[in-house]
Amino acid sequence: MSNGGKEEEKKNEIYSQKKYFALALDPVHIGTGGYRIGRVDNTIVREPATELPKIPGTTIEGVCRNYAYLKAKEKKIEGVTPGCAKGKVKDDKEPCGRCAICITFGYAGKDSALQAMALFSDARILLFPVATMIGPVWVTSPMVLKEAGIEEKEIPEPQDDGFILPEGSNLKPPEEKLNFGWLLLKQDNNKKTNTSSWKYVDDPNEEPKLLENVIPDNIFKRIFKRIVIVPDHLFPQIVNSNLEVRTSVAIDPERGAAEEGALFTYEAIPRGTVLWFDVVYQNPRYFPALKDKTLNKTLKWKDKNGKDIEVATNENTSDDDNGAFSLLKACVEDGLSLFQFLGVGGMSSRGFGRIKVLNLEGDKNDGKH
Ligand SMILES: [Zn+2]
Repeated sequence: MSNGGKEEEKKNEIYSQKKYFALALDPVHIGTGGYRIGRVDNTIVREPATELPKIPGTTIEGVCRNYAYLKAKEKKIEGVTPGCAKGKVKDDKEPCGRCAICITFGYAGKDSALQAMALFSDARILLFPVATMIGPVWVTSPMVLKEAGIEEKEIPEPQDDGFILPEGSNLKPPEEKLNFGWLLLKQDNNKKTNTSSWKYVDDPNEEPKLLENVIPDNIFKRIFKRIVIVPDHLFPQIVNSNLEVRTSVAIDPERGAAEEGALFTYEAIPRGTVLWFDVVYQNPRYFPALKDKTLNKTLKWKDKNGKDIEVATNENTSDDDNGAFSLLKACVEDGLSLFQFLGVGGMSSRGFGRIKVLNLEGDKNDGKH
């Protein structure tokens, strides 16, 4: 944060923010809820205005909390109880209300409650894979990029029936035409953009970063060379007509056999989709509930190297606030690190739901893919 030559103040931020990018390793099915096996069309959650599929922030938060709990057990973090994994009173188990998980994700106990310090946005589609005559391409649009906070000087919009290939693209569409499912578009050569100069704002307190430097992932680098920009109004149509749709058969639970006429289809965000979401980390020291005597204690977690992170929740301590943010971030990112193995959403037993979060702190690209 630049303070423009003002006298140096103690860095005392109310919140910090991080943008996460994630790659779907499997199709991802987040049902609209209440679906019953045997009903046709298990639809997925969509953004009302654009009809674009998304993963709700509440889903990410709930799954992340559970996985953070698994990590806490693995790392032997003191004081974390099974009730902390749920965050609410259930089957006689109660969240402790004072561990890093309860503070990071919030909790509702019998006598006290606290809102979450980590606030999750919905995960939305950034780059969507479509099979074309020249192989898979990843489709996006100026509006989609803008909403994700990605910008160049200005990312141009192609003409109505056109698409733009960024400079340095690996794609060579025959006769400068490309089919996106049923839709045929022609290349718009009048507009230029270069993915190497795409930047995004992560934390509003910091300078914009170059997107290609943020994600140390070789698969992502290959995706980056196969991006196609389509007009904003066509993006939802292209996504919705290229979702993964599978047909399965419902099993009658009483007979253990297929129900008659019980074929059902379900939709999913396809493997290879790149999504983004934000997590806002609020500074625990600004929350009066934490100054309560019973909560006025030291929060503990361990970083990737097993080193202790300890933060006193008392605002009178002289600790740097960065400590509080690193503790919340470490807890959340430990949870997110398991998404690539354990998945998110429904149908995980059918090979659905694994997502790799691409820019976790301390992730190294060993170049050995
Ligand atoms: Zn707890």
